[in-house]
Amino acid sequence: MNVTVQLLELFQVDKELRGLTSRVDQAEKFLAEQEGLLGDLSKSRNSIENQVKTLKATVANEEGEIARLDERINTVREQMNQARNSKEYNAFQTELNTFKTERSSAETRLLEAMARMEELSAKLEKMNTEHSERDKITRGAVTQRDAGLAEVKDRLGVLKAKRDELAGAIPASIRVEFEQVVRARGDDAMATVEIIDRRAYEASCSSCMMTIPVEALSGLMSGKLTKCPSCRCFLFLEEGAMDKPSAKTTKKRTSKKQATATGAE
Ligand SMILES: [Zn+2]
Repeated sequence: MNVTVQLLELFQVDKELRGLTSRVDQAEKFLAEQEGLLGDLSKSRNSIENQVKTLKATVANEEGEIARLDERINTVREQMNQARNSKEYNAFQTELNTFKTERSSAETRLLEAMARMEELSAKLEKMNTEHSERDKITRGAVTQRDAGLAEVKDRLGVLKAKRDELAGAIPASIRVEFEQVVRARGDDAMATVEIIDRRAYEASCSSCMMTIPVEALSGLMSGKLTKCPSCRCFLFLEEGAMDKPSAKTTKKRTSKKQATATGAE
């Protein structure tokens, strides 16, 4: 087995591995996005919950304050009724006015807090709905990711073992170079050679469509590891490529000739 055939086997295993992992990766990415959104929602919801809690305390405080002032106002009113002279009466009157002003401020603060609390409670309710919807989506994404993982797990194990075996049999320097090309070109790291004219040794790279020099083609045929001089992918010959009758080839040649002729006119 020559090294091109070994690389081709590795390439095909890698391709399948990439396909399987990219599916799981996508599910993983979707899940991470949902978890991020859910986390943001939880954070905003907590903040609003805290604000509502603080407002509830404010409302209770102000209600207490108003009750206290009401009590004092009643007491002062009774005292006014029992005032012995106008001086005493006026003193109670001043006190009463102070309490009334204080009560009015407390009432304003209470109403403000209640209005804000109502507003935030409505917002909170909306957020709870959003949160439970997002939570449902997130749980669905977990199920989907797990199902995807379970589905490919066995096949991944088989492929990884096969990959190790194949990679181990290829000389390290070639394997490193191959892996570099795979990183750069992905599924286009290897390409088959398209024979245009087998007798004239005319061929092109099926990845970039550029012509392959005769020396490169004969090198490839003799088992030499060959890269496309144009796009730098590793080339391989499909089995029997050089033995096929050239029906397609003749047609191509004809159309090429015609094109040349048309172009010359
Ligand atoms: Zn090429």
